[in-house]
Amino acid sequence: MAEPIKTKVLVLGGGPGGYVAAIRAGQLGLDTTLVEVDRLGGTCLIRGCIPSKAIIYVAGQFEAMAKPRHGISLTMQPAINFAETVKWKETVVDKLNNGVATLLKRAKVRVVKGWGTFSDGKTCHVKTKDGEIAITAEHVILAAGSIPVELPFLPFGGNVISSTEALSLAEMPKRLVVVGAGYIGLELGIAFRKLGAEVTVVEALDRILPLYDAQLVEPVRKWLQKNGVTVHLGAKAKGLEDGNLVVETKDGETLKLAADKILVTVGRKPNTEGWGLENMAVDMDGRFVKVDDRCATSMKNVWAIGDLVGEPMLEHKAAKQGDMVAEIIAGQKRKFDPASIPAVCFTEPEIVSAGMLPTPETAKDNSIITATFPFAANGRALSMEAGDDGGFVRILARASDHRVLGIQAVGAHVSELSNEFSLALEMGAVLEDIAGTIHVHPTLGEAFHEAALRALGHAIHI
Ligand code: FAD
Ligand code: FAD
Repeated sequence: MAEPIKTKVLVLGGGPGGYVAAIRAGQLGLDTTLVEVDRLGGTCLIRGCIPSKAIIYVAGQFEAMAKPRHGISLTMQPAINFAETVKWKETVVDKLNNGVATLLKRAKVRVVKGWGTFSDGKTCHVKTKDGEIAITAEHVILAAGSIPVELPFLPFGGNVISSTEALSLAEMPKRLVVVGAGYIGLELGIAFRKLGAEVTVVEALDRILPLYDAQLVEPVRKWLQKNGVTVHLGAKAKGLEDGNLVVETKDGETLKLAADKILVTVGRKPNTEGWGLENMAVDMDGRFVKVDDRCATSMKNVWAIGDLVGEPMLEHKAAKQGDMVAEIIAGQKRKFDPASIPAVCFTEPEIVSAGMLPTPETAKDNSIITATFPFAANGRALSMEAGDDGGFVRILARASDHRVLGIQAVGAHVSELSNEFSLALEMGAVLEDIAGTIHVHPTLGEAFHEAALRALGHAIHI
């Protein structure tokens, strides 16, 4: 039994929520201990956002080489060695993982590697390789994150994989079936298609990316169709038979889909089991830990952040909450009240959404102005082949005072517009603010400017 630790702040989980909370707490001079069983960086850095974007980047490079045009020709077709791709992806992950370790060290955070289990609200027992360590804390920040949802009739193992395994495959699957057309399944399915795999998507609902409206998703639907991805909508995965995926179609037919790998991406769930949450007497909100707008749980000085506390399960939400809770513990007055939590799908083309989305009701509602501007009329988009995928920027604003309520975009490279959208919402911009801001030419951002002009009734380029 190692020496017990007494600390001011104990953080459970070294993902983006946890490590940001710990770094900020350390910077603010609080004695801080972080418990992490795996590599520092959590889902995002090790098996989520970053590795998936690295694979997506390589897929884009390969696709560009495989379809030479505009005067470029290759003397032979490119080939992919996926093991090398995964190795490169690991170097990116390693850099970020080391970076987080360095930042924690600089902030004087004590890192304890091992699985933590709480026996009460303020006591955690960590199983380390050198034995168990008991840690008691004045403040506890729970940042245990989330895990992939497993279908009981299609358990992970063998050829049935989650996003974690998909990002570290030893070789390219020839035939990939993706179950669940949410953002994770489509981001990865599209990347593997670009790398040459035969890809089939099975989705229980009647459309892909069901969180978004049909107009916003249409360019992605078209890309899938144009690039030979078979999409079965209204179709439910039912299980495995002789290695084939059994699917019930919307017409009640049974399909048997042959695949080298079956990637199941049917959502993620908060990681609430196996670490003594039940001993902490905190209230729950459905599957999630219940928190208020300061991320306080029902137990005094026990805080919870990130994927553990609810949707949207996104890195930037977790990190922001981590930063905030550390500052609250240090005595600052803060609350989590963002105007929007923008979200990006790194599909082909990309989708960005910040703030209010249109609904069938808003389309008929005179109190809301909706305007779009197509990338087909944007010089920068056309000059980099991003103008012919059906992409556009869309703004929703209040008719009475022109206050911007929601901004979306779909198109190649639009992820980089997300922060301008978010800033506009956070600063309470009206259409005139955007229209009155000089946007650099030629950039994709000009489409945002033009959408605002169009909402005001005087677009120039359309
Ligand atoms: P996590 O990152 O899940 O970290 C929790 C940590 O706690 C883990 O490291 C875990 O090992 C540790 N832990 C849990 N229990 C214990 C215990 N008892 N003892 C010790 N350690 C413990 N989000 C985006 O914003 N943009 C994206 O592009 C994006 N892409 C994604 C792609 C994929 C394939 C996946 C899977 C996710 C993606 N996400 C993306 C979501 C993002 O990864 C999460 O929202 C984010 O990581 C949540 O951070 P967190 O700190 O709440 O939890
Ligand atoms: P999901 O997006 O949950 O998609 C899973 C899909 O699988 C569903 O469409 C489901 O119908 C399908 N499915 C399930 N079972 C079967 C079966 N047996 N056969 C076939 N299909 C099946 N959360 C919010 O609450 N609100 C938001 O606005 C929001 N926006 C987001 C935007 C983006 C860009 C991102 C990155 C995340 C967003 N989130 C939001 C969070 C997101 O919903 C979760 O992180 C998500 O659960 C994880 O993604 P996924 O792709 O694994 O699953």
